[in-house]
Amino acid sequence: MSFENLGLSPYLSKAIAKNLGFIKPFEIQTESIPAILQGKDVMGIAKTGSGKTLCFVAPLLQKIQHQSYEKSRAVKALILVPTRELAVQIEQTFVALQEALRREVKTQAVYGGTSINPQMKNLYGTEILIATPGRLLDLMDHNAFTLDQLQYLVIDEADKMFQLGFGDEMDRILKAIPAKKQSILFSATLNEKVDEIKATLKIDPVVVEVKQQEV
Ligand code: ADP
Ligand code: MG
Repeated sequence: MSFENLGLSPYLSKAIAKNLGFIKPFEIQTESIPAILQGKDVMGIAKTGSGKTLCFVAPLLQKIQHQSYEKSRAVKALILVPTRELAVQIEQTFVALQEALRREVKTQAVYGGTSINPQMKNLYGTEILIATPGRLLDLMDHNAFTLDQLQYLVIDEADKMFQLGFGDEMDRILKAIPAKKQSILFSATLNEKVDEIKATLKIDPVVVEVKQQEV
């Protein structure tokens, strides 16, 4: 099994090997990348460290690089994450694969704990926005971007969003998201709260679960 077999372009597959050092896909990647590339709503469940980041980073880049680009306030993909560290880490994965693309796909991470003004200035023209819930809402209140044309919604570490008490923020954000979009959820565990996201988003995703190996 290779990344190309999953439907990723030869350029992306080479950059994954060269810049990330991944030669063979992990199981959650094998199971979820083809479905995400096909445009399906997907809920992926696999424990921490199983390689969930690439599952959405590579397909989003592969898709968005083929779209025309006009600088605007309209974000194409929103990735919601519970922590600043995770936002930065995901942004770095996007950056590492940029050289494999037909054109630059503008990606930005926004998070709290740092001044909002530089983030706001930089936001114009951003296609892929990685955000923690609180800062995203602040930027939304400032009209720094619009979700009107959102095509892809990713919620990473969905379980942690609720453990950290972002339930109300998530509700507000999800209500601002257009009905017609592809939804991609990743979580280490599956529980009632995570399941509720499906109801809020009115989706019936393909569930991909990688069970922990018995020893
Ligand atoms: P998760 O989000 O499931 O916790 P990550 O996406 O953060 O997992 O990946 C966990 C670790 O595994 C990272 O250090 C990442 O670089 C590495 N990794 C991911 N996919 C592969 C792969 N196919 N081959 C080798 N290492 C990988
Ligand atoms: Mg992760």
